[in-house]
Amino acid sequence: MDWRTKLLDPNPRARRDYKSLATPVYRGSTVLFDDQSSVKDSWDQAENGYSYGLYGTPTALELAARIAEIEGAHRTLIVPGGQAAIALVYFAYCTTGSHALVPYSAYGPNKEMAEGILRGLGIEVEAYDPMIGAGISDLIRSNTALIWCESPGSVTMEVQDVPAIVKAAHNKDVAVALDNTYAAGVMFDAFGHGVDVSIQALTKYVGGHSDLLLGSVSVRDAPAFEQMGPIYRQLGLAVSPDDCSLALRGLQTLALRLEQLEKSTLQVAHWLADHPKIQAVFHPALASCPGHDVWKRDFTGSTSVFSIWFTDDVSPMQVEAVIDSLELFQIGLSWGGVNSLAIVYPDVERPGQDYAGRLVRLNVGLEHTDDLIRDLKSALQTHF
Ligand SMILES: *Cc1c(COP(=O)(O)O)cnc(C)c1O
Repeated sequence: MDWRTKLLDPNPRARRDYKSLATPVYRGSTVLFDDQSSVKDSWDQAENGYSYGLYGTPTALELAARIAEIEGAHRTLIVPGGQAAIALVYFAYCTTGSHALVPYSAYGPNKEMAEGILRGLGIEVEAYDPMIGAGISDLIRSNTALIWCESPGSVTMEVQDVPAIVKAAHNKDVAVALDNTYAAGVMFDAFGHGVDVSIQALTKYVGGHSDLLLGSVSVRDAPAFEQMGPIYRQLGLAVSPDDCSLALRGLQTLALRLEQLEKSTLQVAHWLADHPKIQAVFHPALASCPGHDVWKRDFTGSTSVFSIWFTDDVSPMQVEAVIDSLELFQIGLSWGGVNSLAIVYPDVERPGQDYAGRLVRLNVGLEHTDDLIRDLKSALQTHF
């Protein structure tokens, strides 16, 4: 063979029996088959064998299997981000003429998809009060195909009575999907509490270092997986094996990070709750959070994200000035990494409740809490 042809020979030269503690990063689009008769083309590679990199290389399938294991799911699909996970769930359950329910407190881009792509396709998504509980029954119609829960909700942190919603939904044969990102898939047992689909933005706690974007869609049983798979294939939700490898590394320290984040966050939240310029702290473990009792009943812990609501006499400009004065808390979206973050939500409104530009979301990182509290104290002192 010409040396130029040799350069392209896919057969390995080195031994392949290397066993280490790390999951290898398997890159690849094309999968090679031994002969024509063994060629297959299945999105369910865990079941049917590898067919194409689009449905994940062994690195992605390793991550999927581990997420399924810790969430107690039948199976998990890894997708490019939390928002892609939300899209996959909508498309797997809804079609033109379907009705779906989503809490007011859901992640903003979930509601944007409802008002945008889904409305254009003739799928009606209705917003509901996250605290509705068993009352959801009255909103279920003959064409209701899906009920979303997100608990606690984004920014306003309402803890939902998921078991009551599941009961009402299942009475009428409606599937329930939960955005379980806050709980990292572990602080709230989604399947133990009856949900059909649990999604996570792995971008947050599983990644844990603000350097990757991935999502997961975990399902309760084989029928749900069969419903999800073809849509996953049609949408072409490919993920990077390098990102999956980082997420697998993130899983190794997830327990330790969550343990420390819970402690640090509670300390910061309690300190803020005592400040005269803060009218409410929306942290599930504090009584001031809507649904706190449900959190106590259903969750095994809390994590690192919560919101504070300044008192009426503080202007939105002062709120901004306080946030701008923070030095350790960086200003940025997303959360779940090692750095503390703060961001003002100037436009948050819920029916009957206007937060009037005085709502701020905090994400506590792994910095020492003495330093974080000193940072908050100094920023507040500068302006009040
Ligand atoms: C961040 C987030 C998402 C979206 O995740 P991405 O990976 O950024 O697409 C979805 N749901 C919740 C609750 C989130 O916080």
